[in-house]
Amino acid sequence: MIRFNQVSKRYPGGHQALSNVSFDIAEGEMVFLTGHSGAGKSTLLKLIAAIERPNGGSVIVNGQNVGALKPAAIPYLRRNLGLIFQGQKLLFDRNVFDNVLLPLQICGFNHRESAQRVRAALDKVGLLNREKINPIALSGGEQQRLCIARAIVNRPSILLADEPTANLDTEYAGEIMNIFRSFHQVGSTLLISTHDESLIRQGDGRTIALKHGELAA
Ligand code: ADP
Ligand code: ADP
Repeated sequence: MIRFNQVSKRYPGGHQALSNVSFDIAEGEMVFLTGHSGAGKSTLLKLIAAIERPNGGSVIVNGQNVGALKPAAIPYLRRNLGLIFQGQKLLFDRNVFDNVLLPLQICGFNHRESAQRVRAALDKVGLLNREKINPIALSGGEQQRLCIARAIVNRPSILLADEPTANLDTEYAGEIMNIFRSFHQVGSTLLISTHDESLIRQGDGRTIALKHGELAA
């Protein structure tokens, strides 16, 4: 489902973030991406979502060479991806329901179908009873769950999460992990970057380790 073939990424300015990285992730796998800060984890996830492009090698997602996609094709790629990335802000000028509704509004679903999908997503992360409140009133763990609901409302087959428990207490981190595990159980493909060892132990997934931009294990 995701194939990296000798992928390298150098940023403008000359920093080599990834060097000759190759791996495969099969449909339905749950994989952890580990490595120290600066190892290249975020870069790797961004390449899958075509937020960055590789300088060498190929990134294949669902049979498509992502690095070679025309700009017009990128929204179609992303529709199949659920992104839980740092810096994706919740909107505090609208309620929980409308934050999750947002990604659907550009897809042209009718009102009824949208509402059903939003509630299904909120249900999966345990926030169904919070739909009318402002996300500013949610705890950190609940806000992260809301970010997950927003990422899955399009029913993507692949979920990419960049340090999803970075700022959370252990208890909240465990809840997030349970949610990911439930997606794994219904056949989603997950790639989760983390340096949280306890998260990895709970996940019983495969691990891809990066070290200074190279595959370490
Ligand atoms: P990680 O997610 O493992 O912390 P990153 O992929 O964010 O690692 O970064 C890998 C390396 O690439 C780091 O040295 C970082 O400073 C560099 N880097 C990341 N983004 C950029 C960018 N936009 N421009 C230049 N260098 C970058
Ligand atoms: P139907 O599915 O019958 O077309 P609607 O989708 O209009 O009904 O709404 C179903 C329920 O969802 C209603 O109770 C409504 O109050 C609630 N709802 C709709 N939009 C929002 C929203 N933006 N925020 C919170 N609740 C909403």
